[in-house]
Amino acid sequence: MPVNANESILAARQIPKLKSLLKKYRQARTIQSGLLQLSELASSVTDMSSFYSELQSIIKTILITDSFHISLCNSHQNLSLVYSNNSIERKLIEQQERENWKHSLTGLVYSQGKAISCDAKERDALSKKHNLNLSNSAFIDWLGVPLKRGNNVIGVITLQSYDHDILFSNKDSQLLEFIAEHLVTAIDRVRSRELLEKNIIERTQKLTETNEKLQKEIAERQKAVKIHKALLSISEITATTYDLESFYKVLHQEITTLIPSNNFYIALTSQNNEWIDFPYYKDEHHDIAESRPFSNGLTELVIKSTEPYLMKGNEVITLAGSDPKNNKLYKPKPLKDKLPKAWLGAPLVDQGVAFGVFAVYHYEDVNAYELSDLDLVKFISQHIATTILRIRTQAEIQKNNEALEQAIDERTKELQSTNLNLRMQIEERRKAEAQLYYDAHHDALTKLPNRAMLIDRLGYSLRHLKRHPLHQSALLFIDLDRFKMINDTLGHHAGDLFLIEIADRLRDCVRDNDILARLGGDEFVILLDSLQSEDDVEEVASRIINKVAAGFELEGHTVHSNASIGIAMCGSHYKDSNEILRDADAAMYQAKSLGRGRYVFFDDSMREQLIASMTLEQELRVAIKECQFELHYQQISDLENTKIIGFEALLRWNHPTKGLLTPSEFLFMAEETGMILDIETWVVEDVCAQLKCWQSSLEYKNTFIGINLSGRHLTQSNQLFKLIKLIDKNTVEPHRLILEFNESAFSQHAELALKGLKKLKEFGVKLALDDYGAGLSSLNFLHGYPFEFIKLDRSFIHSLNLENQNLSLIKALHELGSNFGYRLVAEGIESAETLEKLRSVGCEFGQGYHISRPGLIKQFEEEVVNVSNG
Ligand code: C2E
Ligand code: MG
Ligand code: MG
Repeated sequence: MPVNANESILAARQIPKLKSLLKKYRQARTIQSGLLQLSELASSVTDMSSFYSELQSIIKTILITDSFHISLCNSHQNLSLVYSNNSIERKLIEQQERENWKHSLTGLVYSQGKAISCDAKERDALSKKHNLNLSNSAFIDWLGVPLKRGNNVIGVITLQSYDHDILFSNKDSQLLEFIAEHLVTAIDRVRSRELLEKNIIERTQKLTETNEKLQKEIAERQKAVKIHKALLSISEITATTYDLESFYKVLHQEITTLIPSNNFYIALTSQNNEWIDFPYYKDEHHDIAESRPFSNGLTELVIKSTEPYLMKGNEVITLAGSDPKNNKLYKPKPLKDKLPKAWLGAPLVDQGVAFGVFAVYHYEDVNAYELSDLDLVKFISQHIATTILRIRTQAEIQKNNEALEQAIDERTKELQSTNLNLRMQIEERRKAEAQLYYDAHHDALTKLPNRAMLIDRLGYSLRHLKRHPLHQSALLFIDLDRFKMINDTLGHHAGDLFLIEIADRLRDCVRDNDILARLGGDEFVILLDSLQSEDDVEEVASRIINKVAAGFELEGHTVHSNASIGIAMCGSHYKDSNEILRDADAAMYQAKSLGRGRYVFFDDSMREQLIASMTLEQELRVAIKECQFELHYQQISDLENTKIIGFEALLRWNHPTKGLLTPSEFLFMAEETGMILDIETWVVEDVCAQLKCWQSSLEYKNTFIGINLSGRHLTQSNQLFKLIKLIDKNTVEPHRLILEFNESAFSQHAELALKGLKKLKEFGVKLALDDYGAGLSSLNFLHGYPFEFIKLDRSFIHSLNLENQNLSLIKALHELGSNFGYRLVAEGIESAETLEKLRSVGCEFGQGYHISRPGLIKQFEEEVVNVSNG
């Protein structure tokens, strides 16, 4: 600092100047700091309202007035007042600018884009010039500066002075322009900040939204994963559980992780769909669910529609197809007591038909379940249905298997017992068969081999001989005397004892390897094997005869018998066993007929006889077939007046080579073989035919015809019936038939024969006893039998010629006849003398060569014709 006086004077002079400079300097500093402050404010402003209030204080420091207002162009391209610090005209300015901003001074600055400075005078001039509406504005001086962004005017800032001392200078205009620039910067800044902030807010909001969306998605994904996991484990449970009760439990636990399921049940329909059962039921308020009849609950709704249902409040929603828009709304009927707020159920379906329901429900939360849960329960219900069906099927299979196993067990046991039974039966049968075989091959009484076994062994022996022609064996056929007599007189028991004793004695006569067999009755056969010569056979035969000849002690009686033995030497010329047996039998008959108690070897003459007999049998069969028979009739006359009372039909065989054969030549064979029955059927028919012919004949109308019949008609089963039927069929005059039987017809089955005889008598035929006097001639026949005629045998009649004793016998027989109801017929009257004798003792009827020889009936008929003509 200068310290001299000049300098001090100078300085004193300069003080006012300096003071003015200082003042200017201070003003400039104030303006500068105000402008700096403004610049700072503009660069740091965050919102326009605080900016405007800050701006107000800055303006106050750098300008001469703080009455100002700021208008900005809005989005409608209107100017609007954004800030005003003009308490005098604020309202006016606001209104003016709002309503008619184009016709205001501010609007003029805005439209011209240039600053306008005017005092009251200039204002009026401008008003006129630009047709402005000043609305009684009272300013003294006015300054308006456009707010420009580049060339673009975005608003206006104006200063108003209402003080005559305050007039705006160029400097003020420049300052205001400076302020306007900073204002634009600040506006832009704030705007861009606001924009930025808005952007940030929007962005943040978007981000938040995205974030929320993501969070939701994550939550959904997590839920989906959870659902997926749970569904997987449900699938696993479905596949691995074999017991429904534990399946329901585990399933319930699993479902709890997916949806609220404190209340959970499985309902199943009964087989007839009339009842609903609850095999699994968990409820917060009820312990058990009783089975109930099918009604109209939600469970039933699900079963009927086979759709899953969701109930929220009292609205029921279902899935219709896959489009949730098609969901239908139902008003359910009010449910009883405690109602769940939310209910979710799905049907258990088998082949399109629901057989149950799986349901969860919530008593408190209406929104416990969502629409999307319908799909979930649908999925779960399918698994439940699959498991129930699988377990049911398994149970069914197991039941069937058990039943099958039981059936198999039972069947096995049955089979085992049947098997055992069968084995026992087989064993029994084997024994029975063995017994049967034994019985079939042995005689029950003597335990000796029977005919069947003999035939078998004989066959074996024959085959052996064919291979070894030098070996010899023989068959001995043994017949015993008196067996029949023993049987008849001492009874069958004695007969049996006799046979047993015989068997024992015969056994003693043979070696072990010989076969001793009983053929039946008193016929025994011995097969002697491995013989050296015929002498050996003779030795055995003699031994047998001697053994049998020794007396038998039978029930206190001594009985004697004899053995007649026929011997056939076995040889390779025999074709079969029966041939040897037949020959031995033939030899035995020979022995018997030679006088019993002897043995006879079969020889060629016997063979010839046999052959003849076989030939006869054969020819007889042909004769029956070809009906080679005819009947000769012998007249039977009344001896008193020689009138014909009838005829006897006598059989003749018109043999093709041997001529006419009489009964004695073939009848024995017919009788033996039973062919006699066939022959006599023909005889009866023929005789009946003859009777028919005579029905219209004067001569023979009342004549009888006698038929000789075999005893077989009386004793053989069913023959009597056949005979009666035969006669009945062929004639209406059975009383004109005289059926003749001789004593041999009654020799075997006397009672049976007598019975038959009585039946014939009842039937209406006449009966005659033939050949009386030739055999035993028992008196029984005279009174005990229903004979109408007794025919005296011709041998008896012949004897009349020699001894008269028999004549008196005939007389007696005749006299008895009137008591016993028979009449005598004499046979074989060969002379007039005999006839006379017979007549003399009262014999009424007779036949014989003397009266008439047997002949064809034609001859008699012709004779009658001749006599009547003659
Ligand atoms: P028969 O019933 O006593 O019959 C009488 C037999 O004596 C007949 O023999 C007859 O020709 C014979 N004859 C009659 N008058 C005389 C006579 O004056 N002198 C002699 N020497 N003989 C006389 P034929 O016809 O040979 O019959 C024999 C036996 O055959 C019959 O005896 C009868 O028992 C039986 N016979 C005949 N035809 C049949 C028949 O169709 N069935 C059955 N079962 N036996 C019959
Ligand atoms: Mg006769
Ligand atoms: Mg006779």
